[in-house]
Amino acid sequence: LKKGDRILLVDGVSVSFDGFKALNNLSFSINYGELRCIIGANGAGKSTMMDVVTGKTRPDEGHVVFGEAVDLLGLNEPTIAQIGIGRKFQKPTVFQNNTVFENLELAMKEDKRFFKTLFSKLSGEQEDKIDETLGLIGLKDLVHRQAGILSHGQKQWLEIGMLIMQEPKLLLVDEPVAGMTPQEVENTAEILTNLAKDNAVVVVEHDMEFIRSIAKKVTVLHEGSVLAEGSMDAIQNNEKVRQVYLGE
Ligand code: ADP
Ligand code: MG
Repeated sequence: LKKGDRILLVDGVSVSFDGFKALNNLSFSINYGELRCIIGANGAGKSTMMDVVTGKTRPDEGHVVFGEAVDLLGLNEPTIAQIGIGRKFQKPTVFQNNTVFENLELAMKEDKRFFKTLFSKLSGEQEDKIDETLGLIGLKDLVHRQAGILSHGQKQWLEIGMLIMQEPKLLLVDEPVAGMTPQEVENTAEILTNLAKDNAVVVVEHDMEFIRSIAKKVTVLHEGSVLAEGSMDAIQNNEKVRQVYLGE
């Protein structure tokens, strides 16, 4: 994959829960090297969309294609994770009693591609990968700190680091800055921006200032489909968006 190649296609996806359409003919695509923000009111279908892409929920209609031609609908959740789609849920789930380093190490060793067991020695390549990731998530100075005593923001970054250790090509991140201090929000913007340079990152967020600071392109979901798509400025001036959000 190179920059600008399409990495994800969601094509005409519908999902119903007891007759209620959580996703209604949803279509959008994401390119490699892109940092995309997805916004929308509560109930718009953002989490359901992530559930479909990661294989947790099977759609009633439509297709999800990863890379050139991998049809995700035939694959289960672990397989989808393995082929390069990582998901970060809202609440950080780090190993509290392990150090920052150990958390990254454990995340990597879950990766079958390394064919490593838990107590084997790290290769130079693996150590480099951890070191590089520590730099990216800004936790170099805290490498031997126990994860349980990190701040909320630092835990979120560590969890992003743990996802990076699995070498995903597409990362789905759910509300990364909820509960963060303004300084932490700024750091998170930088981390995700750098991450997207050699990846594709989809962020679901409510914090508009944060979105403005990171996203080139924003997708607005409404009642399970795309209401509008474009730059933050275009979105804010979009007539349909104004009607729905401002009642104009
Ligand atoms: P968002 O993440 O944008 O807030 P969701 O994708 O969580 O929206 O939900 C979209 C709609 O689908 C909501 O109305 C929600 O109540 C409904 N929904 C989501 N998951 C389920 C489920 N497992 N069973 C029934 N209804 C659901
Ligand atoms: Mg949600």
